[in-house]
Amino acid sequence: MVSCKSLLEEKGIKPTQNRQKVLDCFISTNKGFSNTDLFKSFELKMDRVSVYRCLQDLLEAGLLQCIIDFEGIRIYYYETRSEKDRLQPHFKCKACQQISSLPELPSSYRQLLDGFKIEEAQFLLEGTCQQCQQKHV
Ligand SMILES: [Zn+2]
Repeated sequence: MVSCKSLLEEKGIKPTQNRQKVLDCFISTNKGFSNTDLFKSFELKMDRVSVYRCLQDLLEAGLLQCIIDFEGIRIYYYETRSEKDRLQPHFKCKACQQISSLPELPSSYRQLLDGFKIEEAQFLLEGTCQQCQQKHV
């Protein structure tokens, strides 16, 4: 069991109650959330602005990464490596909002990019996950 407190301390940011609560939502569910999802789905006892501030702090600390979905909404998820260091696609289920990490692109692909300086990266597939598809059969 990962301790949110120690993760925050390792990254050199103060493990406030709020930051621990927000980080725990991501780690315990292994899902991606937007600011609004997070605010609605959990009894965080925090106002929207505080939730947003926590997300920004965790993003800056490198404990969360953020992807922009096809509706232009920022979705945060727990991952300590930046998108461009992983070249890893994600799948977002439109029904349950779950973000799944798909396998990283193979090293042969990275070699093709030799000489390119990657500054930003985002790979997102959207659809319906297996579990949600079965619910509607
Ligand atoms: Zn789903």
